[in-house]
Amino acid sequence: MSMAHKKTTYQYLHDKFGDHAPDFELTLKAELVDEIQTLKKTRNAVVLGHNYMEQVLYDTIPDFRGDSLALSRQAAQTDKDVIVFCGVKFMAETAKILNPNKTVLIPSLKAGCSLAESITAGDVRELRKRFPGVPIVSYVNTYADVKAESDVCCTSSNAAQVVRLTLKKWKSDKVIFLPDEFLARNVAQELGVSIIIPKKIASAGTRTARGQLVGWTGRCVVHEQFTTEDIKRVRTEYSDVLVFAHPECSPDVIRASDFSGSTTAMINEVNKHQGKPILLLTECSMGDNIIASNPQTNILRLCMVRCPYMNQITLKDTRDALKYMQYQVHVPENVRVKAEIAVQRMIAI
Ligand code: SF4
Repeated sequence: MSMAHKKTTYQYLHDKFGDHAPDFELTLKAELVDEIQTLKKTRNAVVLGHNYMEQVLYDTIPDFRGDSLALSRQAAQTDKDVIVFCGVKFMAETAKILNPNKTVLIPSLKAGCSLAESITAGDVRELRKRFPGVPIVSYVNTYADVKAESDVCCTSSNAAQVVRLTLKKWKSDKVIFLPDEFLARNVAQELGVSIIIPKKIASAGTRTARGQLVGWTGRCVVHEQFTTEDIKRVRTEYSDVLVFAHPECSPDVIRASDFSGSTTAMINEVNKHQGKPILLLTECSMGDNIIASNPQTNILRLCMVRCPYMNQITLKDTRDALKYMQYQVHVPENVRVKAEIAVQRMIAI
């Protein structure tokens, strides 16, 4: 938000969001934004905002915006004393892993993630026993103790590259890729390698299947909702529509789309196709945020899909986070040290 033109925060919000937000809401939000900007200075804090944050919060208070990889990089470079992570818990933990001496705050304790909750550190240790010597790549959407049991982390923007390099560097014919089943299947498809999901194979009574990627059964509650039927329906109505899908969508959806990439890659792709109708198969707030910064773009969305975890982060909670210094993120040092190795390998790639 640039206030160089001396508008009040309320005027700025009214000009930008007045068409679809009631006046009382903008008045309230403007007061919160002003309070947060003051508290940021008092606390010497930086605010990181994930692309899935609600429109007004996303537009006004973050010093840096982006996907989890971009924000991890920013977290690693900040010289501020306090990091407020407007995102979900695994992201705030990653910031703490990279900044053990800084105070990291998450505005809501309810900001979890269905993927991160799908796997435990004990599950990873079991997989290590079952596949001895096989390197483990964990999606950054995991908690710190799972990262600590992993060899390297990845995000949706570099997953295939990380798997490719891990196969080469570990001189292994297999990689364990956790915990997102769809992302694993999409990476396997991109790299042309086979995949097994041990949990499913175990329940089917066979343990002998071989594959180059060993996956898990985690799912993103947002991206698993999109179907090829959704794409067909929109293509019938808009014959020239371009479909961009996040790689946490199912392989069938990815195959039926024109482009698949992380949230940042999707934003870049939207910028290359100004004027064309584009269907975004990802979290709805991100569509709102892209439209707000590209008003000429013809973005279509299936707007029933808001991440219930990202949705927990509000301006009021963010104000309270800075006011009361809550909720502080703690990662035990023995876990942090091991997790940092995996995260730093990802950042280096
Ligand atoms: S959008 Fe999916 S992967 Fe991202 S935080 Fe929500 S549940 Fe987790």
